Amino acid sequence: MDKTTTYKAVFDSAPDGVIITDHTGTILLVNNQVEKLFGYSKEELIDQKIELVIPTRFHDKHLAQLSGYASNPSAREMGAKKELWASRKDGSEFAVEISLSPIKLDDKTLFSAAIRDVSDKKKAESEIAAQNKKLQLQNKELEQFTYLASHDLQEPLRTLISFSGLIKEEYTGKIDDEFNQYIDFIYQSSTRMQDLVKGLMDYSRIGKEKELTLINCNKVLQEVLSDMAMVIKDKNARIVVNELPTIYAYATELRLILQNLISNSLKFTKEGSTPEINISATEINDKWHFSIKDNGIGIDEKNLGKIFNIFKRLHNRNEYEGTGIGLSHCEKIIDLHGGKIWVDSKLGEGSNFNFTIPKNIHFH
Ligand code: ADP
Repeated sequence: MDKTTTYKAVFDSAPDGVIITDHTGTILLVNNQVEKLFGYSKEELIDQKIELVIPTRFHDKHLAQLSGYASNPSAREMGAKKELWASRKDGSEFAVEISLSPIKLDDKTLFSAAIRDVSDKKKAESEIAAQNKKLQLQNKELEQFTYLASHDLQEPLRTLISFSGLIKEEYTGKIDDEFNQYIDFIYQSSTRMQDLVKGLMDYSRIGKEKELTLINCNKVLQEVLSDMAMVIKDKNARIVVNELPTIYAYATELRLILQNLISNSLKFTKEGSTPEINISATEINDKWHFSIKDNGIGIDEKNLGKIFNIFKRLHNRNEYEGTGIGLSHCEKIIDLHGGKIWVDSKLGEGSNFNFTIPKNIHFH
């Protein structure tokens, strides 16, 4: 096979449509794929202006670009892929991706346009965008529902707690042991339910009145630690803090995440050893990477993925107090910041809770 035949075969079997024009936009050569894409035969295209396959509304823009390319063929746009619209012989339009390149011959410059039909890609993209929008809306509705439901549940619960409290006070020791025990159950359960419902309400409120501000994390941390001064003293805990950065974040939420993670580190401590908590932050590429590391009871590997679920707890309430909502709060807060949260831990060897906050968050 001679070289010309080979070149022609390669040209015609290219998966993209290829149109070669001169500097005025006159079509000189097209491959087989172009016929399939546009519905014209080669004969119908050759010697025609390229505008034939461009929707009329883009003609002016195209002509302006063409004269730009012609005077400066190495222009930046030449190599770049562009998403545009093309029109078929029957007048229908389709989305295309076009890679333009100049072909320098001895005395003139030709232009090659490789054209790919991206209608399917475009359709899939807009379907995903619509789906995303729908999900966001549903999420919002769900949050609103959670907020209203938990808000409305508070009132009857308050009544339950206050009356069972009154009965407890009035009648404990006056009837019998069984009575004392039952009323205690009612009182404790309704108090616990109040904690859970309050947790749910707080959860649905995260990010509602969010305000992005420049925060000195050292200052927030000191405030959080001073709120916990009693527990720290009681547990004789050692807190080691590295210099933290000043970052853009949501103030209330950032405080909450530090509060949750540090209070967990102070809660899940190991008997017989002095609790030590290391708090640090490092700058890694475009993110701040925070770490709250403890030497507490640690977490079994099989449970690492579960603890961020709402109400998920690994212990009995008699062992460690809690509602199981703190880490879901943390996850939601970090989502809000566009970061990630995870834990590295080994049972019996302590836990290292990590989270990232993107540095360019204020541009979002
Ligand atoms: P709560 O602290 O109210 O139980 P969280 O959502 O904060 O709820 O935590 C969920 C569970 O993850 C805890 O019950 C505990 O089993 C585990 N956990 C969280 N932090 C630690 C930690 N620092 N060390 C060991 N286990 C932890």
